[in-house]
Amino acid sequence: MGSGVNLPALRGHNDALVLHLLRGAGPVGLGRGDLADRTGLTPQAVGKITARLRDEGLVADAGREASTGGKPRTLLRLVREARHAVGLHLDRDEATAVRVDLAGRAVARWRGPLDFGAGPEAVLEEAVRAVARVRGDRPLLGVGVAAPGPLDWRSGVLGRVTGYPQWEGFPLREALEGRLGIPVRVDKDTNAGVAAATLPGVGSEGADSEGAVAYVHVGTGLGAGLRLLGGGEVYRGRRSAAGEFGHQVLRLDGPPCRCGGYGCAEVLCLDAVAAGRPQEAARIVGEAAANLVALLDVDRVLLGGRVVAAAPEMFVEGVRAVLAARSVALAGGEGEGEGVRVELARVGVAEGAAELVLAPLFGRGG
Ligand SMILES: [Zn+2]
Repeated sequence: MGSGVNLPALRGHNDALVLHLLRGAGPVGLGRGDLADRTGLTPQAVGKITARLRDEGLVADAGREASTGGKPRTLLRLVREARHAVGLHLDRDEATAVRVDLAGRAVARWRGPLDFGAGPEAVLEEAVRAVARVRGDRPLLGVGVAAPGPLDWRSGVLGRVTGYPQWEGFPLREALEGRLGIPVRVDKDTNAGVAAATLPGVGSEGADSEGAVAYVHVGTGLGAGLRLLGGGEVYRGRRSAAGEFGHQVLRLDGPPCRCGGYGCAEVLCLDAVAAGRPQEAARIVGEAAANLVALLDVDRVLLGGRVVAAAPEMFVEGVRAVLAARSVALAGGEGEGEGVRVELARVGVAEGAAELVLAPLFGRGG
């Protein structure tokens, strides 16, 4: 049963619900009867909503379903190319920009060097140029930006980013909106990563059909994004501080980390990578991920980021091996490690950043 509400005041909610279902259905589409069943709305209400969405160019006929006698049903689909958004991943040393359609699929992409340490003004200039490279002359719903945390995703103000003190307190969202003149949303790179990994029809089965997902990013830093409930929102915490995965201490009195602590997963992992020992780095990521699985009963661990992309099989196998070895100690006992799926993330952080802008159209907060 769906969560549609048959009240005129909630028109926006119901429109979003219908769009969400059509997005999940892909090019095949859905009939009005299916939409009524799944939303719990009356067929009349669904008819009004789909007529309105068709007028706005968001919905079109997908064709007719074969029928055994009776009237064939017209199927409706989301018009993917009806609107576009841009996602921008500002990493510490490179920028990636993508223009995506309503399904969240990249239709244009650009990547180039970036010096995050050059400070807000220089990076803003680069961000504006990167958006221009992918948008063409198209109107955009907005721009979603993924940046290193910590940051406040509601206000888009950056926190004390480790190693980049000049960014503390900078209102990235407001500043970029001022330059671009369109809506901007900002989130941590790892949160954008988990949003991308659970895009309906792209990540895998989609956010609605799975349990808790952790996206682990191994790049210029080590972090994680969390989606703890199937179909739920990215878990950010009240202070946007969730997912500071890289700074869990794995070795007391270990080497100093740039966060000021010692023996953090991030410094151990990045040291191993720098020393040319990716297998050891994978094992460290595995130990850190096993802590997360034990703590939160995560169902699926997705791995992404440049370091993973350089040796994908090694990271997937390395993390799997640690989870399997530690399974006895995990809640639930035998077989626990095998129950946790470890996979490569198939969609990038920049696509997840664009999803920050698209999600509200489908009634999701991101
Ligand atoms: Zn640290």
